[in-house]
Amino acid sequence: MTRLDVAGGDGRGTRLPPAEGGGSARGAGDAYDVVIVGGGPAGATAATDLAGAGHSVLLLDKPGRIKPCGGAIPPRLIRDFAIPDSLLVAKIRSARMIAPSGKAVDMPVGEGFVGMVDRAQFDPWLRARAEEAGADLREAAYEGITRPDDGPPLVHFTTGKGESLARHTVRARLVIGADGACSPVGRAEVPGHHRMKQVFAYHEIVRVPDRGAPGGEAVEATRCDVYYQGRHSPDFYAWIFPHGDTASIGTGSAKKGFSLRSSIRALRVATGLDGAETLRREGAPLPLKPLKRWDNGRDVLLAGDAAGVVAPASGEGIYYAMLGGRLSAEAAATFLKTGEPRALAQARRRFMKLHGRVFWILGMMQWVWYRSDGLRERFVSICRDKDVQQLTWDSYMNKELVRSKPAAHARIFFKDLAHLFRWVSP
Ligand SMILES: Cc1cc2nc3c(=O)[nH]c(=O)nc-3n(C[C@H](O)[C@H](O)[C@H](O)COP(=O)(O)OP(=O)(O)OC[C@H]3O[C@@H](n4cnc5c(N)ncnc54)[C@H](O)[C@@H]3O)c2cc1C
Repeated sequence: MTRLDVAGGDGRGTRLPPAEGGGSARGAGDAYDVVIVGGGPAGATAATDLAGAGHSVLLLDKPGRIKPCGGAIPPRLIRDFAIPDSLLVAKIRSARMIAPSGKAVDMPVGEGFVGMVDRAQFDPWLRARAEEAGADLREAAYEGITRPDDGPPLVHFTTGKGESLARHTVRARLVIGADGACSPVGRAEVPGHHRMKQVFAYHEIVRVPDRGAPGGEAVEATRCDVYYQGRHSPDFYAWIFPHGDTASIGTGSAKKGFSLRSSIRALRVATGLDGAETLRREGAPLPLKPLKRWDNGRDVLLAGDAAGVVAPASGEGIYYAMLGGRLSAEAAATFLKTGEPRALAQARRRFMKLHGRVFWILGMMQWVWYRSDGLRERFVSICRDKDVQQLTWDSYMNKELVRSKPAAHARIFFKDLAHLFRWVSP
C-alpha cells in the first residue's frame, strides 16, 4: 500500500491539538484512550483525528462486506478531508431529474464537479490513513461493553471465525460507536436509539455495457440520473449513478411492502440495462433524522449513521458521517482532557448548529414533494428554474447557504408556493 499523507497543511479543516502527555494509555497493550467501533467514513475519520493528536486509539471494523452506497461526494468533503483524485472513479458535471411523466430536466453543476467513489476502495483507504496516523486497526466484530464495579468500560470483541475465532477484551476511557445505522453500540448504550427513523435503500452494481450494445446509452459517464417516479419509489427516489466501468442502480423507501428489488428490475428494463452484467446486489438502512442524543452521558458517543445523520430528501451521508467523526473526535479530546462527560454532547450541538437548519428544510422538502406523482411532477418542473439550480448546487457542493443572495431565496420561496398550489402548470 502506498504511504498516505496524513500530515497537516492539507486544508482538511480543524485538526485536534496534540494530546497532553502524548496520550495516557498509548502502548499499554489492553488499554486505550478511545475504542472506535466501525471503520466506515465516520469511524475512520474520528480515528485519524484522535490518533493524529496523540491519543491511543483502537479501531475495530467488521470485515467481509462492502458498504452499499451510491458513492456521490461533494467538493467540500474532498477539500476538508483531503481525498486524493486517485480515489474518484467518476466526476459528475450534471444531474438529470426525471419526472413521473418521463419529462427530464438537466441541472448542470456549473463550476467544479461531484466526485464518485467506490466504497470497496474508499473505506479501506480511510482506515489505512487512520493506521498511518497511529491508530491500531483490527478486523474484529464488536460484541458488547461491560463495566465491572461501575468502572471504565471494557469492550469485548471477536477476531477470526470458525476454528480460529478468538475473544478479546480491552479497556477504554471512551467508546465511539460509528458502526452504522443498526449500531449495536447505539442500541445497547444510547437511550432512544431503537426509535431511529429509517428508509431502506437497495442498489445493484452493474458493468456498464459498451456504447452501441443494449443499455450502452443508459449510463452517461458524467451525469447522475435521479428518478422521481412513484413506481420506482413511493416516498424517496431511484437513481443511476456512474462509477466509471460500473454503475449503481438503486432506490429507497420506508414503505412496508414496497419491493425495492422489483423496482430496480423495472428500472433496468425501462433503461435497457436489464441485460447488463450484475456484479453486486446489496441494501442497507438509511437513517432519516439525527437522533436526539448521541451519547450516554458517561462514556459512549455515536457518530455518522449510528447517530442518524443522513440528509433527508437526498440521502447524502458520507460528508455528514465524516464531519460527525471529526466532531466526535473533538468532543472526545475535551472529554479525555477534562474527564467531564458533559463534553460529549458538544458533538451533536456543533453538528446541529452547522447543519440543523438545512436538515430541517430538506425534511420539509421530502414531506411536501415526495408524496404523490402529481407533486413529484411539479417538483421536477421547479428544477428547470436557474435560481433553484444554483441554490441546489451551492448548498450541496459547499454545504453553505449563500447568504449574499437573499433575493434569489425569496424568488425560490414564492415559485415553490406557486407550484405547490398549482398556480403554474408543470
Ligand atoms: C444504497 C445506499 C446508497 C447511498 N448512496 C449515498 C451517496 O451516493 N452519497 C452519500 O453521501 N451517501 C450515500 N449513502 C449513505 C452513506 O453510505 C452512509 O451515510 C455512510 O456510509 C455512513 O458512514 P458511517 O461511517 O457512519 O457508517 P457505515 O459506512 O455504515 O460504516 C459502519 C462500519 O461499521 C462496521 N461495523 C458494523 N457493525 C460492526 C461490529 N459489530 N463490529 C465492528 N464493526 C462493525 C461496518 O463494517 C462498517 O465498516 C447511501 C446509503 C445506501 C444504503
